[in-house]
Amino acid sequence: MHKLLARQIADAAQGGALDITRLTELVSNSYDEFDQESVRRAREIVASGTATEKLAEQNRILDAALAHMVQGVAIFDAEQRLVMSNKRYAEIYGFPPHLLVPGTNWPELVAFLLTQNRYAGEPPEEFHPDSLPNAFRVSDTVHRFSDGQIVAIARRAMPYGGWVTTHEDVTDREQLHAQLREQHELVKAQEAELRLRNVQFDIALNNMTEGFCFFDKYERLIICNNRFVEMYNIPAGSIRPGMTLREIVDLRYAAGVCPALTSEDYYIARHRVGAAQLPSDTEVEMSNGKVFEIHHRPMPDGGWVATHEDITQRRRVEAKIAHLAHHDALTNLPNRVRLMDRLEGALQRTSDGEMIAVHLLDLDHFKNVNDTLGHPIGDELLKIVANRLKHAVRDIDTVSRTGGDEFVIIQTALTDCSDAALLAERVISAISAPYEIAGHQIIIGTSVGIAVAPADGETGDELIQNADLALYRSKGDGRNTYSFFARELRTALQLRSVLEADLRHALVAREFELHYQPIVQMPSGKITSCEALVRWRHPQRGMLAPDSFIPLAEESGLILPLGEWVVREACKFAASWPDSVKLSVNLSPNQFRNSDLCEMVVAALAASGLSPEQLQLEITETVLLTNNEATLATFNRLQSIGVCIAIDDFGAGYSSLSYLQKFRFDNIKIDRSFVKDVTHSAASRSIVRAIAAIANGLGIVCTAEGVETDEQWCTLVEEGCSEMQGYLFSPAVSAAQILKLLRYDGAQWTRGARGTDRRA
Ligand code: C2E
Ligand code: CA
Ligand code: CA
Repeated sequence: MHKLLARQIADAAQGGALDITRLTELVSNSYDEFDQESVRRAREIVASGTATEKLAEQNRILDAALAHMVQGVAIFDAEQRLVMSNKRYAEIYGFPPHLLVPGTNWPELVAFLLTQNRYAGEPPEEFHPDSLPNAFRVSDTVHRFSDGQIVAIARRAMPYGGWVTTHEDVTDREQLHAQLREQHELVKAQEAELRLRNVQFDIALNNMTEGFCFFDKYERLIICNNRFVEMYNIPAGSIRPGMTLREIVDLRYAAGVCPALTSEDYYIARHRVGAAQLPSDTEVEMSNGKVFEIHHRPMPDGGWVATHEDITQRRRVEAKIAHLAHHDALTNLPNRVRLMDRLEGALQRTSDGEMIAVHLLDLDHFKNVNDTLGHPIGDELLKIVANRLKHAVRDIDTVSRTGGDEFVIIQTALTDCSDAALLAERVISAISAPYEIAGHQIIIGTSVGIAVAPADGETGDELIQNADLALYRSKGDGRNTYSFFARELRTALQLRSVLEADLRHALVAREFELHYQPIVQMPSGKITSCEALVRWRHPQRGMLAPDSFIPLAEESGLILPLGEWVVREACKFAASWPDSVKLSVNLSPNQFRNSDLCEMVVAALAASGLSPEQLQLEITETVLLTNNEATLATFNRLQSIGVCIAIDDFGAGYSSLSYLQKFRFDNIKIDRSFVKDVTHSAASRSIVRAIAAIANGLGIVCTAEGVETDEQWCTLVEEGCSEMQGYLFSPAVSAAQILKLLRYDGAQWTRGARGTDRRA
C-alpha cells in the first residue's frame, strides 16, 4: 500500500494534524479534481477517529482520489523503487500492469519505455537513462511524443528521500496554446501590414494629382486629401473628418472656388448626385476660371468617393486644338475648313431668298514683299491685311485666309449686287492704304473676284471656283480692281488653255516675229535706238500683240525660250544697223530668276557680232523687287561689258528711288500713263518734271514713252526729257520697214506748225 503516504498520514495523525496542504501539493495539478468531499471527510476522520480506522479510511480515500485523477501520479522511494502509481500513469505510458507494482525499479520502467519507440528524438529527461543520477532533482518539463501527444511532467523530491512525479496529457491545451500563439502572430502580422498599408495609403492619397474625398451615407466626410483642400483653396486646418457635405460646400464658396450657382443650389445638385447612388462624371466650371471634373462613385454602404480632377489645362489645349483646326495660325482668321462650313450654312439660307456673295482676294505681287523684305515682314503684312479686312466687313460676314496671300470673304444678306461691289471697293481701298512695317513703307494692292449666290453657284466649291475666275479677270484687268463672275469667263478660261497649247507650238512653228519702234533724240530728232517688240502671227487669230500672250508665257515658263529667241533674233538683225543706232530689248522678270541671263546675252552678242555698246536691255521695277543682290550683280556684269540697262515704265510701279541709288541705270523710260496726261494734268506734269530732273541730275538719259501729240512733245521737251518714243514718230513697224527708216541716213523728225514732219 501507499506506504509513504500512509506514513505521512500516520505521522500527521499522531502529531494531531494531517498535512492536507502537503498532500494537495503532491497531487498539485489535480487539486480541482480532488473529491473535495473526500478531503473534508479525511479531515474529519483525522480529527476524530482512531489511527487505524483513520488510516484505512485515508487509504480508501486516497485510492479513490488517485484513481480518478486526470494526471498520472507515481511515487518512488529513496532506492528508486516504485511506491505507488495510478491508473492514469499506466494509461499515458502504456505500462503493463506487472511493471507497475510497488517495488519495481525505476530503471526497469525507463528500459520498458525505451523499447516503446514513442520518442521522436531523445526520450524526456524523466525517462532518460543518463538522467538517473539526477532523478531526485525538481523539474518541470513538457514532452512531445512522436504520436503528437504532449505530456507535462512535474517531479518533486520527497522529504524522506524518493520523489513523486505527476504526468498530465496537455496535448489539447498545448494545441490550443499553439493555435492562440499562431493567431496572435497572425494578428500581429496583420497589424503590421495594416500599419504599412495605412502609411502607403496616406502617401498615395496625398500625392494624387486629383483631389479625393470620401463621404459616408450621412454625407459626413470620412477622409479627404491635401490636393482636395488645395484645389478649393480651403484654409489649412478648417476641414476635418465628420464635417458634412453642406459645410464643405460652404467652405468652398467662402474660398471663392465655386460654380456660378448659389451655394444652396450647388449643394442640392451634389446631394442629388449622392442620393442617386450612381456613378457620374460632372464637369464644373469654377468662378476662378478653373474647370474641374468630379468623378463620383457610390460605395455599397451608401457613402461615396469623389475624385476632383483639374482639367483646366486639358480643356484649354482641346479648345486650342479645335481652334487651330478651324483657324489660320498666323492671322487667327477662320481657315478653309471653317470657311466651307460657314459657306454651306449661308448657302442653306439662300433657299429662303437670301443673297450672298463670295469675294476671293489675292494680294497683288505679294511674293515681291516676301522676296525683298523677308518672310517675317510678309507675315506681319498679312496680319495687318487680316485686321483691315475684319474692319471692312460686318459681324455677320466671314473673313478667312485660305492660302498664302489669298483671303475669302463671305458677305451675307445682300440686297443686290451693288452691295457686293461696295464691299469690294471698301476692301480694295482698305488694303491699298500704305503699310509701315519695321521701318519699311509698303504699298500693296489686291484683286477681287466676286461670285454671287444663288445665281453663280449652288455649292460652296462652285462659288469659290467662279469667284476665282472673276479674280483671274481682275488680275488681267491690271489688278487692284474687282470683277464679278460671268459665264463668259468660263469660255475665256477655256480659250486660255487653248492659247497656252498654241503658244508652246508657236516657237517651233516660227510664228513669232519682231517689230521695231524707233526712239528719237531731242532736240536733234534723230533715231538713237529702236525697241524690239514681239508679235505673234497666230495661224487662226491673226497678229497678236504681246499683252495678249506675254503674261501667259510668263505664267507657263515659256517666256524663257521666247525671251532668248527675241534677244538672239534682235541682235542678229540689229548687227546690220548703223553703229549709232542702238537696239533696245525688253526682258521679263522671270528671265532674271530662272536663267543665266548674262551668258545668254553674251552668247547672243557673240553669235550676231553686235557690239555690246549697241545693246540696251529694258527691265521693269518688278525685276528689282525680287532677288535684289543677284539682280544687281547681273546688271553690273552686263554693264561692265558695255551693255546699257534701262528702267522701263518708270513711275507705274513702286518707283523706289533707292533703286536709282543702288544701280546707275543708263536710261529711265517714263511710263506712258504720265505722258498721256502731261498736258492737262498738273500732277502728271509734276511727276514727269521730277523724274526728268532726277535723270538729268544723275546724268541718265530720260525717255518719254507713248508720245502721240505735238503738245505732249513740247511739254516733255520743256520738262527736260531727252528722248521720245511714240506714235507721233512711228509705231512699231516690221523689220523691213524699220530698215527703210534707218536707211534715210540720219532720219530725223522736226516739229512742224501743225504736226510732225519727217525729213530725209
Ligand atoms: P513697253 O515695253 O512699254 O513697250 C511699249 C509699248 O507701247 C508697245 O506696245 C508699243 O506699241 C506701245 N506704244 C508705243 N508708242 C505708243 C503710243 O504713242 N501710244 C500708245 N498708246 N502706245 C504706244 P506693245 O508692242 O503692244 O508691247 C506691249 C508690252 O509688251 C511692252 O511694253 C513690253 O512690256 C511687252 N513686250 C513687248 N515685246 C516684248 C518682248 O520681246 N519681251 C518682253 N519680255 N516683253 C515684251
Ligand atoms: Ca519697253
Ligand atoms: Ca515701256
